[in-house]
Amino acid sequence: MRLEGKIAIITGGASGIGAATTRLLVQHGAKVTIADIQDDVGNLLVHEIGTEHIMFVHCNVTIESDIRNVVDATIGKFGKLDIMFSNAGIAGKPISSILDVNYDIIKNVFDVNVVGAFFCAKHAARVMISTKTKGSIIFTASVVATTYGDLPHTYVASKNAVLGLSKNVGVELGRYGIRVNCISPSGIGTPLALKTLGIDEREKAEKWFGEGGNLKGALLEEQDVANGVLYLASDDSKYVSGLNLVIDGGYSTTNVALGEAYKKLFL
Ligand code: NAD
Repeated sequence: MRLEGKIAIITGGASGIGAATTRLLVQHGAKVTIADIQDDVGNLLVHEIGTEHIMFVHCNVTIESDIRNVVDATIGKFGKLDIMFSNAGIAGKPISSILDVNYDIIKNVFDVNVVGAFFCAKHAARVMISTKTKGSIIFTASVVATTYGDLPHTYVASKNAVLGLSKNVGVELGRYGIRVNCISPSGIGTPLALKTLGIDEREKAEKWFGEGGNLKGALLEEQDVANGVLYLASDDSKYVSGLNLVIDGGYSTTNVALGEAYKKLFL
């Protein structure tokens, strides 16, 4: 029970990483508000877990008044806010050439991933500062904020923006005792990832992630990211701020290109 008495908001909490984190935080004694646009799926999770621990509030993170509302509704029901997990995200169109990018494609991804993160930070800080709560704000960035390749430019740029926002907001909010951190997973076969990859089965995505991953014999799952969020949300990380917790089995530290070129040229 590492979060006894703590109150959390999880954006994108109806599915994937957000849903796994919702379950884990409740298991550890937190009360959670799920903020998502998928009302049916979100309400199913509330039904499964129980309304005394969790509520669902419809929230489109691109709309500031929706985020203000979810924060105020959380204070109204649970009395305070300790943890904001700004996690909602989209990958956008799977376009990898810069030649195919246009304003609408950029705006679509940035509105959810970056503008949404700004509003989460703003409204969490608003109530944490005014109630003198030494809270924890956590953003989901991605491994694509530390390593680059054949991925949609808009998504990669948006996740780098989230990482920069996290670090700079952490500097401002340190004076209030509010910690701000990022969590950066590599690939998991969630609906977002399957859509981006154009793959219909989770097993296929996992086969690819396993083949390309650095750490063999293990696969990244939603629960692994939830465990990282639990650490950043709890007092176990009470002096941790400005961290980008990369959960990728060491993938972002590797670059096999030079070794591969040597083998091709000389062996
Ligand atoms: P997911 O599709 O399972 O969950 C994303 C959730 O965000 C959904 O419930 C969706 O309804 C919600 N959402 C989308 N747009 C929204 C909006 N405008 N307002 C409110 N909610 C909205 O995918 P996931 O993989 O669990 O994604 C969670 C986060 O993890 C995202 O920020 C994603 O970029 C990031 N991430 C995912 C991976 C991966 O491989 N799955 C890797 C690194 C980072």
